[in-house]
Amino acid sequence: MRAPAKINLFLRVVGKRRDGYHELGSLMCPVALYDTLTFAFGGAGGIRIGCEHPDVPEDSSNLAALAAGLFFETAFDGNPPGGDGLHIRIDKQIPVGAGLGGGSSDAAAVLTTLNRHFGSPLAKAELMRLGTRIGADVPFFVHGGPAVATGIGERLTAYRHLTPWTALLVYPGVVVSTAWVYKNLNLRLTKGEKKLSKFDFNGRIFRLDEDLVNDLEPVTEKAFPVIGTIKRLLRKQGAAAAMMSGSGSTVFGLFSNSERAKSACTALCGNQQSQRWTLYVADLLI
Ligand code: ATP
Repeated sequence: MRAPAKINLFLRVVGKRRDGYHELGSLMCPVALYDTLTFAFGGAGGIRIGCEHPDVPEDSSNLAALAAGLFFETAFDGNPPGGDGLHIRIDKQIPVGAGLGGGSSDAAAVLTTLNRHFGSPLAKAELMRLGTRIGADVPFFVHGGPAVATGIGERLTAYRHLTPWTALLVYPGVVVSTAWVYKNLNLRLTKGEKKLSKFDFNGRIFRLDEDLVNDLEPVTEKAFPVIGTIKRLLRKQGAAAAMMSGSGSTVFGLFSNSERAKSACTALCGNQQSQRWTLYVADLLI
């Protein structure tokens, strides 16, 4: 099962709830960069995770394990039917702590795959509800396709007005903690900003020059100026626009076709500063 990454084309933080969660408005789009999950039933009972990435836990804190546990708890009172064990191998291609939602996507892939495997005992809305208990971006990946997320990410509306850009993703090799970024976000909410949660781009084509925005970018960029450097280089190489995804640290440039994105990728690889960076060319999955 392939689990795609996502980028945020619009991310406005519109408030903070009493329970500490931030309310946001975000347009997210899956992109063609994937983790691969392999499911094997049988063997000893319980859920086991295999992942060779050094920053990804193999214990019950792995988001894929949490998702499998929640699924079995909800659909079958805790145990996989037949008492079989489940082993999930994760081949990690999406960089970790990169603002690309890799862990959330793995969790969503587990929810949808197990549900299908066991004859769809849960409705999609129920899977999305379970997803919110794992992470804010999980419902988006269960939903599938470009979507506008509101609330804490759990209310989703499909968005069908994106142009088929190709993204050049540049991961600068720095892991950013989403919690740290939100802690350092200065919430000066004006009425004007709040109105933006209504999404001016809804119902029409998303315009890069007017609509692309990420409230979290200044926070992460202040701590990691390399974000600004990458944005400038992407624009210099012909990107129609460049911005940080989610809480970072990945920066994406948008190109009108994959040839342009690939030649920008080659040019950036030749840059002296790029030794710690990882670059990916990935079409938007619209
Ligand atoms: P987001 O865009 O949702 O903020 P992110 O790209 O910043 O996501 P992730 O890569 O999803 O962050 O993971 C962040 C943390 O989650 C890491 O500390 C990682 O160890 C932990 N984690 C747990 N399970 C997974 C998983 N299956 N894949 C990746 N990270 C996982």
